[in-house]
Amino acid sequence: MKIAIIGVGTVGSAVATAVQNTGLVREIVLYDRDEIRARAAAEDLGHASTFNFDIKINAINDYREIQGSEVVIIAAGANQKPGQNRMDLLQANSAVIRDIVPRVMKNVDQNRVILIIVTNPLDIMVMLAQELSGLPESRVIGTGTMLDSARFKIILSRHLGISTHSINSYVLGEHGDSSVLNWSATTIGNLPLDDFCEQIGFLISPAARKTIEYRVHNAAYEIIQGRGATWDGIGAVVADLLRCIINDEKRILTVSKKDSFNKEEVAISLPRIIGYDGVIDTLIPKMNTSETKGLKESAEIIRQGFDKIV
Ligand code: NAD
Repeated sequence: MKIAIIGVGTVGSAVATAVQNTGLVREIVLYDRDEIRARAAAEDLGHASTFNFDIKINAINDYREIQGSEVVIIAAGANQKPGQNRMDLLQANSAVIRDIVPRVMKNVDQNRVILIIVTNPLDIMVMLAQELSGLPESRVIGTGTMLDSARFKIILSRHLGISTHSINSYVLGEHGDSSVLNWSATTIGNLPLDDFCEQIGFLISPAARKTIEYRVHNAAYEIIQGRGATWDGIGAVVADLLRCIINDEKRILTVSKKDSFNKEEVAISLPRIIGYDGVIDTLIPKMNTSETKGLKESAEIIRQGFDKIV
């Protein structure tokens, strides 16, 4: 399979590295409006490929060269600076998506291509890209809360002393400050979280739950404070999502996609079944009253953000 990555900054490069390491694609083309940066990234990755899977990695400076790409990953645009939140990027990055998506669509097979959106504020960019592309909603997928769910999982894993592989814990809603930790549907092994805690005699206190929520919501801010940007986590997320698509795995991932939710058209993250054709189905998890309320509020924040750019 040939794929294209548009935007080869910190995140786009990390995505390219993570995808290269899967060995699942035959060719990666890299486009950035900063041609020198794209060429340098392709050179560096090319060197790495001599120790790894021998795939073609080329920088391109013309959108026509993305022809034949079955998946196009959009990771271009401004990133958060310390003190900024994702919504602060709304105006700048909607201009970036408006620039990129029409050019991409002129050069891909509209009956096949899947767009993976990484640019923040994620959910609003998914809505915008879907509208501009005219593609079915199932083929414009945002990485959504896959990263937030991973953060929830690793923090719980450390707290409980249980491998992440035995934890099913999802974060729902916005990939942003209003995301909702879905405690009520969390399972450890095949036990609901509370039953598991009771059996091992380790209860998670309300204060500990609050701390975990705070840490999940603030993970990106802490990383940006410490290293200027986040990239390893999102690189792994995109590679995993791509693997699920290429292999038609039909795994359940919390990605963002436009849906009719609460009588509104909005892109939010919910657990969704992913395969070769993109999003195959969406699941509504068990939620308590506060999670249901939180999810509605989160959808409302995304909807209001979208209204500011149309
Ligand atoms: P960066 O500044 O390092 O790179 C952005 C790149 O986009 C630059 O190379 C720039 O030249 C390019 N670009 C800008 N406008 C362009 C256009 N119109 N056409 C082509 N290229 C263009 O930023 P980064 O750290 O790589 O972050 C990129 C985006 O990813 C940001 O919006 C960031 O918030 C987002 N992000 C999302 C997640 C997630 O979970 N979804 C995680 C981390 C970062």
